[in-house]
Amino acid sequence: MKKPTKRSISKKTVSQKRSHKYIFVIGGVMSGVGKGIAVSSIGTLLTAKGYKVNLVKVDPYLNVDAGTMHPTEHGEVFVLNSGLETDQDMGNYERFLGHDLASDDYMTSGMIYKHVIEKERSLGYAGKCVDAEQIRDEIVHRLEHAAKVNKSDISIIEIGGTIGDYQNVMFMEAARVFKMYHPADVAFMMVSYLPTPGNLGEMKSKPTQNAARQLASYGINADFIIARASSPIDKKRKEKIASACSISVERVISAPDIKSIYDVPVNFEKDYLAEQVLEVLSLPKTRTDKSFKAWIKMAKGIKNHLHKEIHIGVVGKYFNTGDFILSDAYLSVLEAIKFSAYAVGVKAVIHTVNSRDFEVKNPDYSSLGQYTGIIVPGGFGETGIEGKLNVIRYAREKKIPYFGLCYGMQLMTIEYARNALGLDGAQTAEINPKAPHLIIDFMPDQKKKIAEGKYGGTMRLGLYPTKLSTGTVSYLAYEKSGRLGHSNIIQERHRHRYEVNPKYVERLEKGGLVFSGKSPDGSLMEIAELPHGTGLGQHPFFLGTQFHPEFLARPLSPHPLFTAFMKAAKNRSIS
Ligand code: GLN
Repeated sequence: MKKPTKRSISKKTVSQKRSHKYIFVIGGVMSGVGKGIAVSSIGTLLTAKGYKVNLVKVDPYLNVDAGTMHPTEHGEVFVLNSGLETDQDMGNYERFLGHDLASDDYMTSGMIYKHVIEKERSLGYAGKCVDAEQIRDEIVHRLEHAAKVNKSDISIIEIGGTIGDYQNVMFMEAARVFKMYHPADVAFMMVSYLPTPGNLGEMKSKPTQNAARQLASYGINADFIIARASSPIDKKRKEKIASACSISVERVISAPDIKSIYDVPVNFEKDYLAEQVLEVLSLPKTRTDKSFKAWIKMAKGIKNHLHKEIHIGVVGKYFNTGDFILSDAYLSVLEAIKFSAYAVGVKAVIHTVNSRDFEVKNPDYSSLGQYTGIIVPGGFGETGIEGKLNVIRYAREKKIPYFGLCYGMQLMTIEYARNALGLDGAQTAEINPKAPHLIIDFMPDQKKKIAEGKYGGTMRLGLYPTKLSTGTVSYLAYEKSGRLGHSNIIQERHRHRYEVNPKYVERLEKGGLVFSGKSPDGSLMEIAELPHGTGLGQHPFFLGTQFHPEFLARPLSPHPLFTAFMKAAKNRSIS
């Protein structure tokens, strides 16, 4: 037998010592208290401790994926490299971890049930009675698989919903048996809430104590309690919770409301949360990586009030239910703006622009003058479209930096065709397939899918390559970012059914619109832009992408196109 070298011996010992670890995060008391951000932040901290972490979101709803849900229903639909349409929490996970996640890191009840039922239909259970147990075991299997696929050291699993929801019982049960199968490798964390009723003025810990007891009734005992509250929780309450949950006081972590979500890991670090987690999981305590310094700097910089404010108008249609809905529907876009604003040394103030306000006869454009940049993000359907087209025209003619994302790119192409090329009736097939000039048409394979009513997961989804033309605005932006690959190829995430109609490309190009990014075979227009400048047919920044750059914007690696847009917006505000 070959004698093992020193190196292989030490490698073996490390892997023997480290079986894969799992942290389940469960919500107590109520939803909407930032469970996803808590999960993401623990991910940031454990990554900074040198561990490879994957974050898993488990959503109890029966939709097979998030793609068929309206953003006002469930917030932004976030797309992974693989093309899976997921919950917006996955976006936060990726932004806090700084790396891409896999399809295996996301599951819904619908996905699990569909799989189990299809397996049963094809005799996959060999005649057995199939019931809730198979659902539970499928969840367990998927969680174990996700850990393998990612080759990570630690999986952090967020169970959607709150303790006591009947919708997530299967997942709670899966978490319970998980501990049974991997007794030394599982930790439980409950993210709870301590209300301070106005008339009392005192923070109450009883709901959290009750939630911990309810959790125990599922056979799960919390190892940590993240105590969310409007202010830091004091020693007395920590002690009460600790004794109700049979944990030490140090494992009750104070998590007061703070302005920026990027401060949450910094706050947790103050309570030595990561070190305590490593202790519970019997993992070696390592030093905090230098990269965490960059995180702290970014978290500070993002809220720097001394920075010059610039005003960005985001034109959408999901505003009538209030700002809360807006920020959820366009979450990744707003975060991407924030990162790039920080990168160019400004503070972005976001204004919601309701496209319907510009659909009237002779719209009043005066409000748009206050913006130093305008964004039209992705969208679907007919509502507010003429208003968006009017805003885009205004931005082009008044030379206000404009950035179009997906639908925003398709609309800027239609606007250009109508008003710069004089193609009256230029339109997208999404609104009127019989329009005289279908500037935006179905992608070749999409018509059939729609005709057959196959909507779920059938768009052009996920990562695809784009080849950039040298010297263009896009090229120059990517060139400096380190994201430009071999042969000027970039990779970006997509989610669309329609595309720039190839029949009109030549006319549009002759008319001055530059398609600076195309699919490598040249057939699909991925980026449209006007040449940079102040002269005729030029613009300080008029650019749209068929893909969604916002999905790959990260706090420590802002997206180059957002940064180029913010730079143009900053320059406008100075002049
Ligand atoms: N509705 C357009 C399409 O399907 C744009 C989609 C989007 O903005 N994500 O092509």
